[in-house]
Parts: sequence; structure tokens; C-alpha cells
Amino acid sequence: MQDYISQLNDAQREPVLQKEGPMIIIAGAGSGKTRVLTIRIAYLMQQGVDPFNILSLTFTNKAAKEMKKRIGDIVGAGQAKNLWMGTFHSVFAKLLRMEADKLGYPSNFTIYDSQDSQRLTSAIIKEMGLDKDVYKYKQIQSRISSLKNGLITVRAYYNDADLQEADAMARRPRFGEIYKEYVERCFKAGAMDFDDLLLKTNELINRFPEVLAKYQNRFQYILVDEYQDTNHSQYLIVKALSDKFQNICVVGDDAQSIYAFRGANINNILNFQKDYDNVKAYRLEQNYRSTKNIVEAANSIIEHNKTKLDKVVWTANNDGPKIIVHRLMSDAEEGRYVAGSIFENKMQHQLDNGKFAILYRTNAQSRAMEDALRKRDIPYRIYGGLSFYQRKEVKDVLAYLRLVVNPKDEEAIKRVINYPARGIGATTMDRLIAATKHYDRTIFEVMENIDRVDAGINSSTKTKLKNFVTMIKSFQALDLTQNVFELTEYVLKKTALLTELKKDGTQEGISRIENMEELLNGMRDFVEGQKEVADARGALSEFLEDVALATDLDKDTGDDDRVSLMTIHLSKGLEFPYLYIVGMEEDLFPSGMSMNTREDLEEERRLFYVALTRAEHQAYLTYTLSRYRWGKLVDAEPSRFITEINQDYIEYTTPIDNYRYKPLMNNDLWDEPDKSKLRQSKPKNGTPPSVNQPNEEQIRKLRKMRPVSRTTSNSSAPSGFEGDLQPGMIVEHARFGRGTVVNLEGAGGEKKAEINFNVGGLKKLLLRFAKLDVV
Ligand code: ATP
Ligand code: MG
Repeated sequence: MQDYISQLNDAQREPVLQKEGPMIIIAGAGSGKTRVLTIRIAYLMQQGVDPFNILSLTFTNKAAKEMKKRIGDIVGAGQAKNLWMGTFHSVFAKLLRMEADKLGYPSNFTIYDSQDSQRLTSAIIKEMGLDKDVYKYKQIQSRISSLKNGLITVRAYYNDADLQEADAMARRPRFGEIYKEYVERCFKAGAMDFDDLLLKTNELINRFPEVLAKYQNRFQYILVDEYQDTNHSQYLIVKALSDKFQNICVVGDDAQSIYAFRGANINNILNFQKDYDNVKAYRLEQNYRSTKNIVEAANSIIEHNKTKLDKVVWTANNDGPKIIVHRLMSDAEEGRYVAGSIFENKMQHQLDNGKFAILYRTNAQSRAMEDALRKRDIPYRIYGGLSFYQRKEVKDVLAYLRLVVNPKDEEAIKRVINYPARGIGATTMDRLIAATKHYDRTIFEVMENIDRVDAGINSSTKTKLKNFVTMIKSFQALDLTQNVFELTEYVLKKTALLTELKKDGTQEGISRIENMEELLNGMRDFVEGQKEVADARGALSEFLEDVALATDLDKDTGDDDRVSLMTIHLSKGLEFPYLYIVGMEEDLFPSGMSMNTREDLEEERRLFYVALTRAEHQAYLTYTLSRYRWGKLVDAEPSRFITEINQDYIEYTTPIDNYRYKPLMNNDLWDEPDKSKLRQSKPKNGTPPSVNQPNEEQIRKLRKMRPVSRTTSNSSAPSGFEGDLQPGMIVEHARFGRGTVVNLEGAGGEKKAEINFNVGGLKKLLLRFAKLDVV
């Protein structure tokens, strides 16, 4: 058997060797789902499947790149390059370019990023004279986005009285008009937004059966990673494309579904077995990523969710250190603690910076971490937030380049028509927009014909507009002979953008110039890379597509020895030996906005599960007692998630003593699994890891934990404990949680118990008043 196949365990090997038919792997974090997908592709190729016939959809472009590399190592890089592999957005952008004319789009259509979309929405609200406090552009934009992802077009919207009524009730009766105008404006600008990349793909395959047939025949094998986070639009594409051959392999983990707020539909994974005939379902249960402490702590968290599939995750790895929980006074102190701890770990264990990650719930939390890391001279990289290509100065240059490829691009024109300043003001812009509507032309077309149209623009402004058009056309001419790097250098010179930036001598101004340099460096790399690609299309449009679809996670700096900082959402699929999850506080994590419904809270809990399962060796959880939120210092309390973890796996380096929430958990009533049986030692040399698997009975026990009866307390307060307490007994206190009785003293009404609480530490309680249950 091939060497790489023998590196899989039995459960992982099966789905790799099953060549045909629909299959699903639902398995916990770190169990090798992504690895199985990767190896499966390599194996298919070795079985003679043409890489052109394999479509593989990943969560990030970076993941696709890594997978391709791994596959390339096995089958040869030349072959791996031909795979259709990437995010839904990048793969279907590529497909749409080839078929754009069928939908009335130019093949060089622009991709509007979320900033472009929001600006357009905001402009439309203004043009319609609506109250921007009622019609908030971000809300409107996200409503448009969710309609599109539900495949509800403008026409479908107007056919649905309920949807319209919902908007009327939300005091935005004119939402439909905004939606309609938004869609028309994008179309006219030859632009698709992110959601269009999926919506238009659906439209394409629904309206043109021959196109669908073509791609069904092309994508004979389809594989999807992180399937639990697909939305309806993505689901339909996968369903349609796989319909003919039904060679579809999806992998995912319902416990890691964290994008419901963006329209991900967990039912896609739950209903997979109904969608195809003869689905083969596989389970992977052995985690290879993390220590026992981490795996079992994560298991104990997800137990609190009611909506979940029964799943077993165990590991043959060492116990490892316990999860450290540490309390701080403020976020600044939290930053110092984390930076200090990283520093110590680095020194003590001789580790690179790249072994560490700091995860947080919200981007705003990164600042305190950055400050502290900088003071310690620890290099770091922040992922997420504003991506490099969304920075103003970078986007300005890109806007010129976008116009070279697609002069209809309205958002690009609006960005740079008067930047650097050339005396074309807002009034002129308003008049131009009015003229576009009157003549049903694009802004660029109106400008090209400015002498012939009646737009109420005076002759000196007309000259300025004509100059602008001439300049863009000169860039277009240059694009025919020069590469993107050379073209951009010329654009910077001709538009005097760099001179403009140099006027600003502040630190910020200097960093903008540095960003220009970085952009040019990136272009040079891109041009070099293109030389190897045989079927490279027009370099500039390809560069712009990469840029539009790049998430910040994708950017390779070439210098990886940095601590990674990112939100938990971005950390999906990744792994780090040392992990710090900061801001473990109520109202922050779980987020204050997510506590209204059980569904929302369960999604937050899954987010915590994702976070913790990124850790390989050691996890730290930190919380503070006060934190600045929206400019105000507010009191903070430890997150309920800390207390939900099975306390056996935690070490408190500071006492946790003021929590408001007694964990309310459905498994409060459930017995703990018998860990002594699961915690087996590592297999001896030469013993295959499979002997270390829990046996059937243990697995059954893990799957179906039996309820145990427990003493019910008298609920009238103060109830006092009247039972027979003995040292060694495990008790539960309403406020302090679980603990072990260490000592008893006194008698009658003065009887006291010394109890070592898992969370609060040692406490002496007067039994007359103590509200205790024997567990
Ligand atoms: P997640 O749910 O977080 O996406 P996953 O199920 O995709 O996790 P992988 O990332 O594929 O898991 O694997 C987790 C780690 O375990 C990786 O470092 C991988 O290389 C390693 N691993 C997986 N299977 C094996 C195996 N059979 N032998 C050794 N290491 C393995
Ligand atoms: Mg994975």
C-alpha cells in the first residue's frame, strides 16, 4: 500500500479508499477530517482520476494552498496545480468569468468587496432621500446579503408579501426599492458582490441546463471541507453539480458550526443522508491534535448543548498540563500576563513565536495584546480586521487598476475621480449619476460623451472629466504591453498619488507609503509567479481577482515566526501548540448579543469549543474584572463557559470567586464518564495505536451517559444542610459549584465544613446556612 495511506488509521483509511458514491464524515475537532480529504484527493489522482475532474472546496484560500502543496508532494506539483480547489467564492468566481456573457456580464466583471457594497448601499439610501438613522446602511446591506444567500432575488422579494411586511414592520417599507436599485447598479457597473458569486452561479446552472451538464461532467468528484458552515446558496450549488455522478464527499463537525449569523445552515450537514441515496457515513473518533486534558475539557463543554449529534472524541496523546485559568484586573494587565507567559514559555521550552496564538471574541481586544507584545519585543501578526487590500491608500490605487479592466466600475470611479484632488466635486458627481439614470449609461460612458449629454456641467469641469477619461484610457493602452507591476508604477507617477501621500509627514502618512511599497512588492511576486503558469489569463485582471477574494488569513508574509492573533471565527481548522483565549467574560464571551435565545447561546458555546480545540499542548483562559467597553469602564465577570468545563481539567492560578452564573446544564444530572478507563497510557513501542481505542462498552458509556439520582435540596432559604456529611464527599453549592469535603468541625448548630471547591478553593461554611447538595 502507498506509504501515505499507511499513515492513516483504519477509520480514516476507509473513506479514502471508497472511490465512488456519496459519503459524509462527521467527526470532532482534530480527528483528521481535513487530512482525510487531502489524502483522498491524492489517492483519487493516483487511481487515474484527472485533476481537472476534481472540485475541492475549502474554508480559506490558505487551506487550499496548503492542501495543494501536500497533494503535490504525493502526486507531483504539476498535477496538483490542475485541481479545482479553493473557497466557494474563488472557485465560482473563476467559473463565472468563463460563463459571464450568458448572464449579461462582461468576463472582466469587478468583484465588489464588502466595503464597496456598503458604500453603494449607503449612496443609494442618500440618493433616495431616506433617513439614514432608520435605514442604516450596514443593516440594509446585511439584509440584502441574507436574501441573496437564500436565493431571494428582487422579483422573489416582491412576490413575497411576508418579506415585505417584515420590512414594513421594521420601519423600512422602502427596503425593496433599495434592494432593486442596488442590484441594478451592480449589474450596470459590471460588478458582482460576494453573495452574487454564489447567487449568479445558481442562476447560471438553473437557467442553462447545458451549462449545468458541462460542469456536472467536469466535476466528477466533489469534496467539501467544513460542510457544517455552508449556506443555502452553497448547498444548492454542490447539490446540483454532484447530481449526476454523486461522487460527493463532505466532512464537517456540527459542534463547530459557527457561522449561523452569516446564514450558514447546520441542516445542510444534518440532512445530507436524506439528500443522496446510499450515503456512506463515517466516523472518526481519535483526536491527534490535542492532549487528553484539552480533548476532554472540550468534550465537557459541548455536552452542555442540547442540539448536537452524538459523537465520541478521544485521544491517545498524553494528559498534558491542565488548562490554566487566570484572572486579571484590566485588559492592559491581561495583555501583560499573556505576553509574559509567552515569553516564559519561549524561554523555558525553547520555542518559536509561531507556536503561540492568541484568540479573542472581538477584534477590538487585539489592541491590549499588541501593546503588551510590542513592549516585550515579541513579533506578532494580526489576522482579520481590515485586510491589507482594504486599507484606504491601497484601495485607491486598486481603484485605478479596476477602472483599467472595467471602466464601468462605479465604486472605483467614485473613489478616485477626485483623488488626488482635480476639482471634480460632489455636485458634479451627483449630476453625473443623474445623467446615468436619464440616459441609461454608465458614469464612464457619460463622461466619455460629456460634450454631447445634457448633464448641467460647466465647460471647465467638462475638461477635467475628459482629462480623467483620457488618463484611464492611457492606462488601458499601457496594460496591453506592460505587466501589473510596471503599470502600477506608472499609475502612481501619473496620478501623483505618491506625491500626495508624501505631503503627509506624520507616522501614519509614512506607513501609507510603506504600504504602497508593500503593494508593489506583492505585485512583483505575482508577476514572477505568473511566469510559471502556462494558462495565465490577463495578468492584471487575475491579480485583481486574487486581491478581491483574499482574506487576511491568506496573506503570506514569508516570515512565519510570529505570534498569531485572530478572532475565534478565523481560527477554524488551525492548530497551535500554545493557545491563549482571552476575554473569557460574560457579555463578551458569550457575547452580550447572543444570550437571548438558547440557539444563540449554543452557537457561542460551539465557538468556545472551536477555540479550545485549536490547542495542541497547553491552553490558557484569561478574564478581567473590569474592561473598557464602548469607552466606559465596566465591571466584568468570568464567563459561564469557564465553569462549564469539567473542573478536573482546569488549574486556577488565581481564585475565581465572583461569578453570577451557576452553570445550568442539562448534564448536571448526568454522571461523568469513567475517565480512569479512558485515560490509558500511550501504546508501547511497536503497538499500533488502535489498541488504545476505548472498547465498545466505554464508547457506549461516553455516548450515553447515564443519569444518576441526586439528593434534592430543600429550596426554602436558608435551607441548611441536614444530611450526614463525611470528609471525601463531593458536594455542590449553589454559588461555589462543586467541591470536596475536607474536614468537619463543631457540632449541632455550629457545625462547620471545610470544603475545597473546584472553582473557589478552600472555604469554611456553617452548615446551618450552607445550601449544599451531595452529588
Ligand atoms: P478540525 O475539526 O479542527 O478542522 P480536522 O478533523 O480537520 O480538525 P486535521 O486538521 O485533519 O483534523 O488533523 C488534526 C491534526 O492531527 C493534524 O496535525 C494532522 O496532521 C494530525 N493527524 C490526523 N490524522 C493523523 C494520523 N492518522 N496520524 C498522525 N497524525 C494525524
Ligand atoms: Mg479540518
